[in-house]
Amino acid sequence: MRFISTRDTKGDSYVSAAYAIKQGLAPDGGLYVPEFIPQIDEKYVTSLLEMSYPEKAAEILSLFLDDFTKEELLDYAKSAYINNVFPEAVAPLSEVTANTSVLELWHGPTAAFKDFALSIMPRLLTASLRKLGETRTVLILVATSGDTGKAALEGYRDVDGIKIKVFYPVDGVSKVQKLQMATQLGNNVDVCAIKGNFDDAQTGVKKIFSDTEIAEELNNRGFMLSSANSINWGRLAPQIVYYFSAYCELIKRGRIKYGDKIDFCVPTGNFGNILAGYIAKKMGLPVGKLICASNANNILTDFMNTGVYDRNRKFHTTISPSMDILISSNLERLIYFVAGSGTVVNCMKSLADTGAYTIDSDILAEINKDFCGYYADENATNETIANIYDNYNYLCDPHTAVGMYCADKYTEESNSTNEIVLLSTASPFKFAASVYKALTKCMPPEGYEALSALSDLTSLPISTPLAGLDKRNVRFDRVCEPSEMAADMFEHLND
Ligand SMILES: *Cc1c(COP(=O)(O)O)cnc(C)c1O
Repeated sequence: MRFISTRDTKGDSYVSAAYAIKQGLAPDGGLYVPEFIPQIDEKYVTSLLEMSYPEKAAEILSLFLDDFTKEELLDYAKSAYINNVFPEAVAPLSEVTANTSVLELWHGPTAAFKDFALSIMPRLLTASLRKLGETRTVLILVATSGDTGKAALEGYRDVDGIKIKVFYPVDGVSKVQKLQMATQLGNNVDVCAIKGNFDDAQTGVKKIFSDTEIAEELNNRGFMLSSANSINWGRLAPQIVYYFSAYCELIKRGRIKYGDKIDFCVPTGNFGNILAGYIAKKMGLPVGKLICASNANNILTDFMNTGVYDRNRKFHTTISPSMDILISSNLERLIYFVAGSGTVVNCMKSLADTGAYTIDSDILAEINKDFCGYYADENATNETIANIYDNYNYLCDPHTAVGMYCADKYTEESNSTNEIVLLSTASPFKFAASVYKALTKCMPPEGYEALSALSDLTSLPISTPLAGLDKRNVRFDRVCEPSEMAADMFEHLND
């Protein structure tokens, strides 16, 4: 299967899967998408029922990544979704309310759903480089608001031929996230905080990517840059798998039979996770609605309701920080699938020029066949954490609580009787301080102590990857100005 840029109006930029994974972003600024969406049927889903998670992953990935053999993919999937990487379970489904089950995507090494892509992506990337005859060392450069950085560090740690460097905003991540990154193990990793917010980090990284002098200097020293963000198809494809796995699990439990539609509710930021659900639906998985759940930064809710995407608005810092985002990059892929590259080019130009764009009402109607949008403000998020715990004895992290609230709203307004699967994107212990506060209305103890306090309060164990975090060695405590990012990168290139 070939891949093409969302902004290619001529249809002449086809590349292989390996190339799309190595490159990340297309040269015209667009995102790579598969040239067609492979179709599956009842027999296919039935064949998945008895497979392990890695077997399902290899099966589904092979439909998109055909420069890799199924044996190669199975080998990568087995080493990514294995017991020592996902110690408790891979993607367990908890039945919480009468019609809503929670798909827990946080049992991986960093306690957030990004582990699904970033535990297999390094293997896909190294194999792609090998297939393409690339001999330089790849430097993965990441700007993170917390979860991607840690998941990428963990995924790429000690992978041959790769170095990874992460920048994060010094006051823009939670204490746990900071500690997770500062104590990262591995001989090919480096972490630096920057004085600024996430946008400053992101802008700094983008500047390094687009600087030809930097590229040349790196090349002279035997390096090339690559990215680990969800604009890369290699990150998106592995996320399709758990939509299938949730559907199979509901069949196995007798809650649905093949053909029954289920709705998915997805706490959304960059639109990567929910777009994987859209691909699953377009492949033929019986999915009803994809409920796009946002926090107070409700730009996507407005888009789903009005067709207007307008980032000229106040930015809110919330207790679900991984969704504090006003540019949802992967929405470009949805617009491509629904309206084509011409519309993408116009919308992205308008976004760059004015910070906003509007899609036609027939395109919006098409999008609304598959998607609806809801949001939870801070109050609603806090109340939902407490309500779900009090009424169902289930502990949600703030991102998952946003989703719970939106799933409920949707049920109320749509009268849908479909089963809902809510994607739970982070462990509650990753955001222990906010969760503790929502439950008790009291301030939690400072720093790591908040995790023990939440554990004592709920009698739940601290998630394995977060346990003992306070006892680990801090290896990275540098802080630099945004203007010093490139210099810092070069200085520590050969550490
Ligand atoms: C990244 C992240 C999200 C948002 O996912 P997108 O793919 O960017 O929409 C939601 N919740 C958590 C905990 C995350 O880390």
